[in-house]
Amino acid sequence: MELAIKAYTGDGTEVVYEYADGHKEIRSGGSRSWRNNNPGNIRYVAANDWNGQIGKAGGFSCFSHPDFGRRAIGIILKKYASRGLTLGKAIRTYAPAVDNNNEEAYIKHVEELTKISRKTALLAVLDRLPLIAQAIEKHEGYFIGNTEKMEPELSANHEEVSQLGEYIWRTARDNKVRSRHAAREGKTFKWREPPQGGHPGEEYGCRCWAEPIVNEEKNLGQIFDNGQQAWKRKIAKEVSSIFRKRKIT
Ligand SMILES: [Zn+2]
Repeated sequence: MELAIKAYTGDGTEVVYEYADGHKEIRSGGSRSWRNNNPGNIRYVAANDWNGQIGKAGGFSCFSHPDFGRRAIGIILKKYASRGLTLGKAIRTYAPAVDNNNEEAYIKHVEELTKISRKTALLAVLDRLPLIAQAIEKHEGYFIGNTEKMEPELSANHEEVSQLGEYIWRTARDNKVRSRHAAREGKTFKWREPPQGGHPGEEYGCRCWAEPIVNEEKNLGQIFDNGQQAWKRKIAKEVSSIFRKRKIT
């Protein structure tokens, strides 16, 4: 199964997941725990570098798979056990009233689901921590909503690429097109190397236009291979070398 590599807040309460191949999934509706792949509703804390954590949304961690979220609940419970907490104290620590939790209702629910008393030290029931984790998940609520898949888009890069790369010369395709431009119809030109008279539309009265080449293998490949930053650095370098060549008097 393919796992997302990045997650973040979209519109409103939506959570966006990005995959390595460039496609995105947008989760809306359902519970926060489902949208974030975080069954325990674990708050995002920068210092906690959980396995499988790929971002945050709504103040809570986002995991690439809900099992990573379940693993995190287990680790938190083990930590509470090592601190000598009872089940009751552990739930009060996990879901404090300051976070709008009804501690008493929470503890009662977990007691009911696990048949473990709030007075029991977690250390005495280490083998049942997974059961407690399940009860926490159940109490937090886990409801599936809607997932919308979006295919990779060229987005912001595409304009940049076509501006810096090549274009197809297009004419108005009528008998008023000057013959020199008619001969260029459908041909590819580089933005960095304007043909005689300039790019489409630059000559007086010219109605020609530049059709961007959006699927330009070479340039898009470069972006995906090196990343956008590397591409920007390359352009910045080229620009600065142009300025160095120019004599400033
Ligand atoms: Zn023209």
